[in-house]
Amino acid sequence: MSVITVPQLTDNYAYLVVDDASGKAAVVDCAEPAAVLDAVGKRGLKLEAVLSTHWHGDHTGGNSALAAKVPGIKIYGARAEGGRIPALTDPVDDGDTVKVGNLVGRVLGIPAHTNGHVAYYFASLKALFCGDTLFVAGCGRVFEGRAATMVASLNKLASLPDDTQVFCGHEYTENNLRFALTVEPGNDALKKKYDWARERRREKQSTIPSTIAEEKRTNPFLRTDSAEIRANLKRVNPGLSDDSVEIFAKLREMKDRF
Ligand code: ZN
Ligand code: FE
Repeated sequence: MSVITVPQLTDNYAYLVVDDASGKAAVVDCAEPAAVLDAVGKRGLKLEAVLSTHWHGDHTGGNSALAAKVPGIKIYGARAEGGRIPALTDPVDDGDTVKVGNLVGRVLGIPAHTNGHVAYYFASLKALFCGDTLFVAGCGRVFEGRAATMVASLNKLASLPDDTQVFCGHEYTENNLRFALTVEPGNDALKKKYDWARERRREKQSTIPSTIAEEKRTNPFLRTDSAEIRANLKRVNPGLSDDSVEIFAKLREMKDRF
């Protein structure tokens, strides 16, 4: 069981992280408590905690209702979000650990989408919950940080083991892959992934999780050193340097307009 995906709103995902031995669970992000509590109840689990990745309402809109409905529930979220996470009980910082039953998750500070954005990494499950920072074939918009901040955050995630499963906050995969193909059309892994994702979406199936290895092969925002991407960007932006932050910033700007 371990990780259960619970669709939220139009294209958000909440995830139940389950300690199978004890039946204790935490939910990573929650906008719609009813769907989350339903998923918990159906499986006879005990919801102990909310792991908030960042303050945006589509990720934390359900916190207050969960706090009211589940006595004693802990609500984790970054101290660095400056009090914007509703019903926060347990502020966390980069490097802290969180417990779900006997499972231990590590808090990774990955700012840029928001200043206090965090991911939760469960090594024993080979699972990363990265909210709106790393998406399948994409990354979050840089709302509160700078391009260099996002590059550092993405590099931090890319340095996790290759077989780490990536559970992100939104189903943006198909559109992300369509953009990726405009900048790296010669990438065979990318073409295959796009065909696969289209098929999955046609069948109303999720495209998540991905893996760190797969993202390194297909995600343009982790591929700023690709010769093909650089050449394609320079054709339209002749002044562009080979600096990876500059390449990233240009890619992000193009994606914002895509
Ligand atoms: Zn967000
Ligand atoms: Fe979001």
